Amino acid sequence: MPTTLIRNADWAIAWDQAPGEPGGRHVYRRGVDLAFADGRIEFLGKSYPGAADRVIDGAGLMVMPGLVDLHSHPHHEPLYRGIREEHGVANMHMTGLYERGQAFSAPDDAARAAGAEFAYCELLLSGVTSLVDISAPWDGWIELFARSGMRGFLAPGYASARWFLENDLGPSYDWNEPRGRAGFERALATIDQALAHPSGRLSGVVSPMQIDTCSEALLRDSRDAARERGLAFTTHCAQSVNEVREMIRRHGLTPIQWADRLGLLGPGTILGHALFIDTHSWVRWHTQDDLRLLGESGTAVAHCPTPFARYGQIMEHFGAYLRAGAVMGLGTDCSPHNLVEEMRKASVFARIAARDIHSVEIADFFHAATAGGACALMRDDIGRLAPGKKADLVLVDLACPQMQPARDPLRALVYHAADRAVRDVFVDGVQVVADRKVLTLDQADAARRLAAAQERMEAAAPQHDYLRRKAEEIVPLCLALAD
Ligand SMILES: [Zn+2]
Repeated sequence: MPTTLIRNADWAIAWDQAPGEPGGRHVYRRGVDLAFADGRIEFLGKSYPGAADRVIDGAGLMVMPGLVDLHSHPHHEPLYRGIREEHGVANMHMTGLYERGQAFSAPDDAARAAGAEFAYCELLLSGVTSLVDISAPWDGWIELFARSGMRGFLAPGYASARWFLENDLGPSYDWNEPRGRAGFERALATIDQALAHPSGRLSGVVSPMQIDTCSEALLRDSRDAARERGLAFTTHCAQSVNEVREMIRRHGLTPIQWADRLGLLGPGTILGHALFIDTHSWVRWHTQDDLRLLGESGTAVAHCPTPFARYGQIMEHFGAYLRAGAVMGLGTDCSPHNLVEEMRKASVFARIAARDIHSVEIADFFHAATAGGACALMRDDIGRLAPGKKADLVLVDLACPQMQPARDPLRALVYHAADRAVRDVFVDGVQVVADRKVLTLDQADAARRLAAAQERMEAAAPQHDYLRRKAEEIVPLCLALAD
């Protein structure tokens, strides 16, 4: 395969790790060449001595590793644009999860395909090269993901129970264990299909959907299946106050403690979102164990600040999770699918929660969005730039006005420019974004299909909503519509 050379990049974020040693960290390097072929980085340093088939002038560019997004739902979250941002239920401790999920869901596979294609474009344009996609399996999912060019960790969701609402005080549970088992089998088959895909870029994550909607047996068997296959395991855990109260009611334990009791915690387990731990000010349970359990077990947390912050909730706090030893990663649970903006929000909210500017640094969040996510997925070949690692990389345009002056380009990217400065993206050595355009998918066409799908979803809302309301009664427009 031809060799591509990025010659004399102004800046690079390189991986610094002594051979044979654990750990490692990102460091800046200046004036370096980066060469890759056959999907892997061959050279990173001064003056590449070899020949190259394609040379990219690195002047005015920063080369950085592609981002690893640990948690997303591309098949339905784009349908919620204009619906979800300010939707929440005060009587459910502000979360809109249960009411929205019942009233509004992707009406068909065409809607799921439109949402996924649209979200994959947003992700690529913000520099995401690896994605954990937690979705109910739909026809065409694997093919579309493969076509996107992204590195995929497909996480087909299933559960023993469905939430439904009888009132606005919290979810009720409709249990159906055979349905959960069938979903589990189908998920494993989907993962096997992804692993067998000729692109070699697709893998899987075993994903029982929520700690409160899956039976003890289904959770244990799912964890075992992940371990047997050498795959990561993920589930939503400690994502709402209602869920915490429900788990305490059932077991006398917080969701994290219940996960520990079942043997779910440990390396290769990713909890989305582990926000409402026993010490959180919205929970204030009498134990003080959850953070220690996460840290001592080496469990990973997929932190997605945006959806919670919109409800008025923040993690308390990121620096404490890090120091406890949890493996911290970042995800884009909802739209916009912009992991750079998640880094920015996560860093600001972490300081608000800690009331301490020094509790975290932006380097902590860049690590979480790259090597931290890779560690959570048990991969040491992504999320870092070094010889031998996957050629998943992003070229950042330092001439972008929001990057200027580029004294400290990572700070400029995260705090100022975000996706506006992402110029080119390569995955597995193949270019998937060129000059801010996705080469593999059609975002404009996906947007048209997405708008039509959102209309179908809204039209069906009265059939699903527990009060039979129309969409505009559940979520009115933010301004009155005048004549
Ligand atoms: Zn989620």
